Amino acid sequence: MEGFERKRTVVIVGGGIAGAQLANSIEQIADVILIDPKEYFEIPWANLRSRVEPAFAERSVINHKEYFKYGKVIVSNAVDVTEQAVVTAEGRRVPYDYLVIATGHPYSTIRRRRDRLEKFQEDNQKIICSSSIMIVGGGKTGVELAGEIAVDFPDKKLTLVHRGPRLLPFIGHKASAKALEWLKSKNVKVLLEQSIDVESISESDREFQTSAGEIVRADSYFLCVGKPIGSAWLRDSILKEYLDRNGRLMVDENFRVGGLSNIFAIGDITDIPELKQGLTAQRHAMILAKNLKMLVKGVIGCKLVRYKPSQPQAWISLGRRDAVVQFSFLTVSGFVPGMFRSRDLFIGKMRRSLGLE
Ligand SMILES: Cc1cc2nc3c(=O)[nH]c(=O)nc-3n(C[C@H](O)[C@H](O)[C@H](O)COP(=O)(O)OP(=O)(O)OC[C@H]3O[C@@H](n4cnc5c(N)ncnc54)[C@H](O)[C@@H]3O)c2cc1C
Repeated sequence: MEGFERKRTVVIVGGGIAGAQLANSIEQIADVILIDPKEYFEIPWANLRSRVEPAFAERSVINHKEYFKYGKVIVSNAVDVTEQAVVTAEGRRVPYDYLVIATGHPYSTIRRRRDRLEKFQEDNQKIICSSSIMIVGGGKTGVELAGEIAVDFPDKKLTLVHRGPRLLPFIGHKASAKALEWLKSKNVKVLLEQSIDVESISESDREFQTSAGEIVRADSYFLCVGKPIGSAWLRDSILKEYLDRNGRLMVDENFRVGGLSNIFAIGDITDIPELKQGLTAQRHAMILAKNLKMLVKGVIGCKLVRYKPSQPQAWISLGRRDAVVQFSFLTVSGFVPGMFRSRDLFIGKMRRSLGLE
């Protein structure tokens, strides 16, 4: 039909921070399809609070359809990509004009929102029923979970086992020392340079031997070890040559993968040299949204917005009141950063950015 122009199809793989933000921003200007193995979006850092206060998850676990009303959601894992289409685990081919890969990390594999909420209830019961708890892993997840339990359940005997010589290895020494000091002040026993063979332990165990031979007695444990990058599905695809040795996709300043004109990647999966953060993933999404708006409208000679890596800024919550924040040249800890971060964990801000109350 003359004068009729079909809307371009944008397929977004991964409905985490970056994918959800992008889907919400462009849903009215293109036919947008979001592929994610979960029917909901969740804010990863709220999960730890949700274990001590399950009702918290009501606001941080959000059905995709709540913020993404006009587009289409396919609840499935993507398993391959060709020049024309994404292939899902069920063998479905989903054609695209533009493809955006945002499969940062597989934080949760639970498909339904209500089952996810139930899992938080279960974790909460596990905490309530244990007098001693072991946390394995002293990265952000382990430290923040220890902080949440130590503050909400001060009578629990907590042991945090961490393989490295210091907690939170991705931030500066000063910030990591402050977190350690805070945990100790809450009677958390921190074992550094020791590890637990997680393959050999089970939920029924009550004694755990560390690599240094120390015995940790605990009624239950939580594994807070790093999740792999969500790029295994690309290893045999047309994009395999653009994966770096850490499994991240190599992108240019316009988020284009390997310079391809219609395939982009944003969020934690990219090889951009910066701290991997939700706030950064959101910025990627906002910039790519601007560029896609021009591209799908076919603006001739359009100049795409370039992304510049952001200055590192890391927030670590320590329970409900305190936090450590590391800016480029300054580390601040205590209740002042806690006022900004730890009360609602930026959930309100994140919801507003998706057009939700
Ligand atoms: C405990 C913790 C605390 C954190 N605290 C902060 C903080 O305070 N501030 C901050 O800014 N950042 C924080 N972060 C980091 C932040 O959560 C990540 O940087 C952010 O989630 C990255 O967003 P993303 O969209 O790239 O990936 P993710 O949010 O990891 O989303 C990836 C999505 O892709 C989906 N996916 C994976 N594989 C496939 C596949 N094959 N097919 C389809 N879908 C797939 C997943 O299901 C998921 O929905 C924290 C992270 C953790 C774990």
